[in-house]
Amino acid sequence: MQAEIISVGTELLLGQIVDTNAAYLSRVLSSLGIDLYHRTTVGDNETRIAEAVRVAFETSDIVITIGGLGPTQDDLTKETVAKTLDIELLFDAEAAERIRGFFESRKLPMAESNLKQAVRPAVGRTIPNPVGTAPGAIFEKDGKSVICLPGPPVELIPMVTETVSPYLRDKRGPTAEIIKSRVLRTAGIGESAMEQMVKDLLQSGNPTVAPLVGRGEAQLRITAKASSEEIADVMIAEVETKLKERLGSYIYGVDDETLEQVVVRALIERGLTIGLAESCTGGLIADRITNVPGSSAAFLAGVTSYSNKSKTELLGVSEDILKEYGAVSGPAAEAMAQGARRAAGADIGIGVTGVAGPGGGTPQKPIGLVYIALSRKEDAHPAAERTYSQEFKFSGDRRNIKQRASQAALIMLRNELL
Ligand code: AMP
Ligand code: MG
Repeated sequence: MQAEIISVGTELLLGQIVDTNAAYLSRVLSSLGIDLYHRTTVGDNETRIAEAVRVAFETSDIVITIGGLGPTQDDLTKETVAKTLDIELLFDAEAAERIRGFFESRKLPMAESNLKQAVRPAVGRTIPNPVGTAPGAIFEKDGKSVICLPGPPVELIPMVTETVSPYLRDKRGPTAEIIKSRVLRTAGIGESAMEQMVKDLLQSGNPTVAPLVGRGEAQLRITAKASSEEIADVMIAEVETKLKERLGSYIYGVDDETLEQVVVRALIERGLTIGLAESCTGGLIADRITNVPGSSAAFLAGVTSYSNKSKTELLGVSEDILKEYGAVSGPAAEAMAQGARRAAGADIGIGVTGVAGPGGGTPQKPIGLVYIALSRKEDAHPAAERTYSQEFKFSGDRRNIKQRASQAALIMLRNELL
């Protein structure tokens, strides 16, 4: 079975928004084993939408349109699809009631134009929209379907999981092959080094193994084609075991798991707490850690310490260290880590200091130079502590450097906990 996606919206052609819906739907289609050979984007223009739908409908069994279902003048998709397929649109009293209720329950006035959305195809069905006002529609003709979905991802995604996916699975029938992927995520190893360690395994046919880089880390994607999800899972697990034997603790998680989730879990499992002193990362590490639900069991406090004075007064970094080595130095990072640990009353302290640019670099302290330190109370001698630091040289712009520094700090913490 073959599908085509048509994204509708002038803002997409102007590059003002990124087509995340088409990417999402592409993943859904591949997981269902439905072939997708073309993706099209058109502006909010009736003639061009009609032409795109006509061409796609000739070659594909399933055409999915995204966007243009709203109440405004430029929302034309349903009407245009109806005209192109010569299928009537009927007033849908139930949908109209739901739209009225949507505004009433939010105590908002409703413009009459909203009722323009309350239509359904004479041949086909409505796709309920549990989140917004515009229902979707499935037009059916000659055993083929045109599926119209709204633009906002918060509306599109539940409509796909609740209605469109089951509909497509039904249409596809039980025998088709499905494609399933699993991403292994690594920390502390670069893409080429990782590739070297698993080179022979990248040659396999099904499942395929492909290296990729995402969110500042090297990843491996395992993709299996099989007649069922269960079989694909078994095939993926076999390859995953082999890759894990090679890469060992470089692999920290899979799929959507983040490094901060893994680190917070490890801290909680060990009953350890943490405090942070962040200079060049400006609180980014604290942000990442506190994005993890339940992190309050491990995260006690973070200090965003930019000025030398705050490093001295809030963290107890001695003026001598700042004078002798400078604020961007290993000794300063170590004193910050110790200060963070003491100020928070935590088991572990982390200190980060560096030059994020674009200004402020010197030959001795170039942009991208970052020191990260970790200070930990010794379990054997609670009065004693162990503190160490590492020098890094990151490239990229200010945002990249902050991101990479936060990643390196989390990796350092993870290695300490392993
Ligand atoms: P529309 O239904 O075309 O009026 O789109 C409403 C809103 O949904 C737009 O303003 C965007 O914020 C969002 N949107 C539309 N199309 C897409 C898309 N293909 N991917 C992600 N967001 C989209
Ligand atoms: Mg639009």
